[in-house]
This record gives sequence, C-alpha cells and structure tokens, in this order.
Amino acid sequence: MDLWVTEYQTPSLGFSCKISETLRVEQTKYQHLAVVNTDQFGKMLLLDGMIQTTEVDEFVYHEMITMVAINSHPNPKNVLIIGGGDGGTLREVVHHPLVENGTLVEIDDRVIQASKDFFPQLSLSFNNPKANVIVDDGIKFVKQHKDKFDVVIIDSTEPVGPAIQLFSKEFYTDVYNCLKADGIIIAQSESPFFNKDVIKMAYSGINNVFNTTKLYLASIPTYPSGLWSFTIGSKKHDPEKVVFSGDLDLKYYTSAIHQAAFMLPNFVKNIIT
Ligand code: SAM
Repeated sequence: MDLWVTEYQTPSLGFSCKISETLRVEQTKYQHLAVVNTDQFGKMLLLDGMIQTTEVDEFVYHEMITMVAINSHPNPKNVLIIGGGDGGTLREVVHHPLVENGTLVEIDDRVIQASKDFFPQLSLSFNNPKANVIVDDGIKFVKQHKDKFDVVIIDSTEPVGPAIQLFSKEFYTDVYNCLKADGIIIAQSESPFFNKDVIKMAYSGINNVFNTTKLYLASIPTYPSGLWSFTIGSKKHDPEKVVFSGDLDLKYYTSAIHQAAFMLPNFVKNIIT
C-alpha cells in the first residue's frame, strides 16, 4: 500500500511525498507535530501540516538564513535565534568561527525533542559549548533584553499560531532594541509566488525601524513554490557586502551566492516597492 503525506500549500495545491514510516504524531501545547520518513527527502518535520525541514534540502535554508547576516557583520560575536527548534540554524551559527555565543529561544520543547530523537544532523549542536538553548516565548525574550546581540535570526513558522506576533511591527521594534548599535536582523519571509502579503508585512515592518532593508532569495524544493525569501534589516552595515573572507566549507552558501541572492526578478521587486 502507498502512503503519502500532503502539505496543502494553497487551497488549490498540494505537495505530496510518499512515506515509508510515520515516526511521531502528537499535539503539543502549541501545534500539531509530525515526523515522517519520505522516500524522496529523507526524514521530514511538519508542524500544523506544514513542512518545516527535511534531511535532504535543509542545508539550503539553514545556511542561507544564517550566513548572509553573519558574514555581512564584521564582529558577529553574539547571535540570537528566535524559533528554530529543529537546531539547523543553531548548527550553522555555532559553526562560524567569529561567533562566540549562539542563543536559541524556542517556544515548544517538543520540537527540540523531536529533533534530538530523529534528526541527528540538525540537533548535533544543542550541546555545543557556544550554544545556549532556552525554552520560552521569543516575543517575551526580546522585550527583556536590550543592546545585547550582534545578529538576530527569526527562524519562525508561518505567521499563524504562536508565530503571528513574530511578524508584527512591535516585535521588530523590540528586536531593534535588543540589537547592538550595528546589529542585523534576518527573518524568513516565505514564497514570492504564494505569500506576497507575508513578504510585504516582514519588509515593511523591518523597514519601519531599520536603516537598511533588503530581500534575498534561495531555492528550497520542499517549501511552497520552491523559491523562498528572506528579509534582512541592518542598523549600519550593508547586508550585500561580504566582510568575512574565511572558508566555511558549506554546501549552498558562498560569497558569490551571497551577492547573487540579492538580485531580484521584477515580479519580486514589485512586491516590496
Ligand atoms: N525552517 C522553518 C520554516 O520556515 O518552515 C521554520 C523552522 S522552526 C521548526 C520554527 C519554530 O518556530 C517552531 O519550532 C515553532 O515552535 C517556533 N516558534 C513559533 N512561535 C514562536 C515564538 N513566539 N517564540 C519562539 N519560538 C517560536
């Protein structure tokens, strides 16, 4: 018998993968969590029916949400991740030689547990000496910290449930205040094909408080439409300029990709102008 998992990317479009095993299904305090083993993409984590990460393509998202911000900051010592409970972004953050501390604030401890149980390639950095893992609401956390971080990464779920406020103007103002005077914020901002409103919300919210705001793209096959956007805001440094020259030995990100990712097709430019 064939078993398939389907994410309804829009009311009229489903993205289906054949699965060999269902490894976990549970309702956490915050969301419906599932881990399945797919033939095409390896193990897959879903929250509220939406694909969060898969073993095969996770590297694109995790490298691109991390390295563009960190490599455009000359001194990215203290990095904060809001969300990101699967650990993939934390892995990239602590891997960077200039980072001294990576703090991850995830609201749902069951996501962290699922990663520890099923995704060793993502969870390997939870115990890294540079890592500090906190189970708490990121919205509350940023309000309580001022002038502390060099880079803040918003590795959130879609703007539904506990993540709605992570796309609000008030939240971006709190992130601005928890960053140092030359800090950088980076947020995943969804698909330019299917989520124009999310991009507008993230871009205008960040642009409202940061001196420079830019959008860049990466190709991620299991995310809706396969074309994904990230919105970056900076108080001082130009996010397009790569200031780190060391070799990071990654699978997707290079300094050339860093710069190329900011070249936007007209239909994407039109979303933010
Ligand atoms: N890469 C993913 C994507 O774009 O689909 C996102 C990965 S990560 C699993 C997203 C995490 O954000 C979830 O584990 C969720 O629990 C967490 N999250 C949502 N709202 C949050 C909040 N207010 N504070 C902290 N974490 C939150």
